[in-house]
Amino acid sequence: MNIILLGPPGAGKGTQAQRLVEARGMRQLSTGDMLRAAVKAGTPTGLQAKAVMERGELVSDEIVSALIGEELDSMGADTGAIFDGYPRTAAQAAALDGILAQRGRNLDHVIELDVNEDALVERITGRFTCANCGKGYHDKFEQTKVPGVCDKCGSTEFKRRPDDNEETVRTRMAEYRAKTAPILPIYDARGIVVQVDGMADIDLVTKAIESILAN
Ligand code: ADP
Ligand code: ADP
Ligand code: ZN
Repeated sequence: MNIILLGPPGAGKGTQAQRLVEARGMRQLSTGDMLRAAVKAGTPTGLQAKAVMERGELVSDEIVSALIGEELDSMGADTGAIFDGYPRTAAQAAALDGILAQRGRNLDHVIELDVNEDALVERITGRFTCANCGKGYHDKFEQTKVPGVCDKCGSTEFKRRPDDNEETVRTRMAEYRAKTAPILPIYDARGIVVQVDGMADIDLVTKAIESILAN
């Protein structure tokens, strides 16, 4: 099973991907996470991507498609892939077709998380993650059970992304509208797009996605 989670920044792609990984043993392929790791490691890709990401603009199609190909090659052939934050442009969507075909994989579903843009700034500015295991949280919508302690691993260290500020979010939303939303018709024409109400509670969104995958 190979699926794309599609939606603007803050739609809940990462949150739902983490749950699918836990529940179904699929792999989350987040180009954002891969790029942040490259920035942290100071690789040539990271050096190129850093300023672009800080502005909230898109990193080049070649870079992100190469990262996706490498990640797929590191996975077992029967491990399902959840594409989170990729593809984001028509060129990336075309590249993904080739990347999947070369590896004998098929795209099963494109799950569009449908959200109200007005909610996204609050979601993004309240977002934080465990510095140890990467589990995602929100100041208001998904708090740790014990204040200051990660539910999953017990760590007391958390981090926030430098690009999760209101100004950058506006640029990221504009990039989504201009470059990413237009790829939906490509998948729509193949009959593989399913919309999920991303404004529902996190657990309800998970249930809706599970019922799509069960079909
Ligand atoms: P994305 O990966 O699409 O950018 P995230 O999954 O990181 O989005 O979600 C952004 C923030 O909003 C996180 O802090 C997350 O806890 C919170 N969040 C995710 N889904 C929901 C939801 N359905 N309702 C309320 N808050 C949510
Ligand atoms: P979010 O889910 O909140 O939109 P991501 O973690 O997916 O954020 O992406 C963070 C940043 O990394 C983006 O603003 C962009 O600069 C870069 N990025 C991530 N994925 C891609 C991609 N597929 N194509 C181009 N740039 C990307
Ligand atoms: Zn943790």
